[in-house]
Amino acid sequence: MESIWTLGSRGVAEYAPLDGDTEVDVAILGAGITGLTTALALGEAGLKVMVLESATVGAGVTGGSTGNLYSTLASGQAPLRQKWGDKVAAEVVQARDKAVAHIEALVDRLGIDCRFQRLPAYRLLTEDRQHTRHNLNDELDALISAGLDAEMAEGPRLPFDSWGIRIANQAQFNPLHYLQGLANALLGEGVVIHQHSPVREIDADKGLVWTDTACVAAKHIVQATHTPKGISLLQAGMLVSREYALGARLRSGDYPEGIIWLLDPLHSLRSYRHGEDRYLVVVGEKHKTGEHHGDHYQMLREYLESRFDVEAFTHQWSAQQYSSPDGLPYIGRMHGHDNLYMATGFAADGLVWGTLAGILISDQILGHDNPWQARFGARRITPGKSAMQYARENVIVTKHMVKDYLGTEKLDDFAAIEPGQGRVASVDGEKLAIHRTPEGELKVLSAVCPHLKCIVHWNTSESTWDCPCHGSRFDTSGEVIEGPAYHPLARPKGLD
Ligand SMILES: Cc1cc2nc3c(=O)[nH]c(=O)nc-3n(C[C@H](O)[C@H](O)[C@H](O)COP(=O)(O)OP(=O)(O)OC[C@H]3O[C@@H](n4cnc5c(N)ncnc54)[C@H](O)[C@@H]3O)c2cc1C
Repeated sequence: MESIWTLGSRGVAEYAPLDGDTEVDVAILGAGITGLTTALALGEAGLKVMVLESATVGAGVTGGSTGNLYSTLASGQAPLRQKWGDKVAAEVVQARDKAVAHIEALVDRLGIDCRFQRLPAYRLLTEDRQHTRHNLNDELDALISAGLDAEMAEGPRLPFDSWGIRIANQAQFNPLHYLQGLANALLGEGVVIHQHSPVREIDADKGLVWTDTACVAAKHIVQATHTPKGISLLQAGMLVSREYALGARLRSGDYPEGIIWLLDPLHSLRSYRHGEDRYLVVVGEKHKTGEHHGDHYQMLREYLESRFDVEAFTHQWSAQQYSSPDGLPYIGRMHGHDNLYMATGFAADGLVWGTLAGILISDQILGHDNPWQARFGARRITPGKSAMQYARENVIVTKHMVKDYLGTEKLDDFAAIEPGQGRVASVDGEKLAIHRTPEGELKVLSAVCPHLKCIVHWNTSESTWDCPCHGSRFDTSGEVIEGPAYHPLARPKGLD
């Protein structure tokens, strides 16, 4: 099932895959919000820009997001203040506020029909827990001290008791329609977008980018791929998680307006209107990528049904997030190469961070100073604020390496794999990722992730192979869906 944002999809002009060598000023990998915001600023400045997208415009996380735009962070303003102090916490709000205003201005200027509207955001408790109530006071204090218009207030009309904080003047839109609007505007600026053109290798020293069929020479290369491709030290400290989303129609009751964060554990709710039809969207059931604990969609369905009078579930999708060890995104020039840029570590807040990344990276390429470049720079080193998560993630990677390499069961007969099932097993000493399609076809791949050689795990909810180490994901044919891996899962040696 597709995301709800595909309803009334605007489509984009047909961009053929790249099929010949060429030269540009800037090659941008990825047509998500980061890539297209960067491309627009550079195209409007007169540079020759090419966007290479492995799938289609918006097919990444942007098109799988909730479409909420806010100046604080979904994880809360108080934890940010605790880690970074008042000054930085306020800077984050100012920078994000500018980025939301940037989106609003582009929607106006380019006439993008994406249902952008200003609405409040709510952080709500649904059960009376003294401990969490106390934390809400801290959160309110942090929001106000960062300059936000926030107060303790009644929540929107919900069919259950709730209370908490209201933050005025945040926003929502349809993220896919927004990207399609940007893509169509890029055409007018002479920017070329090649869809279905996955980049397989970069040589930053020579300024070269390769797809399967062509090579692009570029003065600047921007990895707007949500996480940098290939091997980067930053990946070692990232927490990579997946989250699930549902669209539903209600039998009775109101569709609540605004950005609604229900706490303990965090679930996000919002409404969406398409023509005369109304929908409720819920997002939650977050877990570490590669570590699955049952049917996450079913858990989310049960969560919504226990709170609303659901008539039917109409949409379901999921998406991935990368949370940085110090809580801020990494944006801009990468270590070791002045012509190579990246943007990652957006957690669940990257529609706004991705827009800020588009502003900061295009400013760097154009040689414009920007006061936030240092704060969010990809070259910053913050050991005091990052050490805990680095240590934790590296222990987890080591544990997976040891457990998955030593603990994989042997398989003597492929007939043991049922239709719809996926399993990693050892066959003649080789670790294999084995899947039988619901129609009975057997698909066998190497289970070794080409990124850093961890063993992939079967994701039952989405029928994909997911790497628990750094979040690379592959479809049942082995092709890369997302994450740092450049290359598909290999065909097993014995079956070549
Ligand atoms: C469930 C969920 C809900 C969220 N909701 C919100 C929200 O409401 N508000 C908010 O601010 N943030 C939200 N986020 C976070 C936000 O959606 C992301 O951080 C943001 O969309 C990332 O944008 P991006 O352009 O950097 O990446 P993407 O949108 O993922 O774009 C990257 C693109 O790169 C392409 N690509 C990858 N590899 C290659 C390659 N080798 N060659 C060419 N192209 C390649 C991909 O196909 C993709 O299209 C949410 C995240 C999740 C998981």
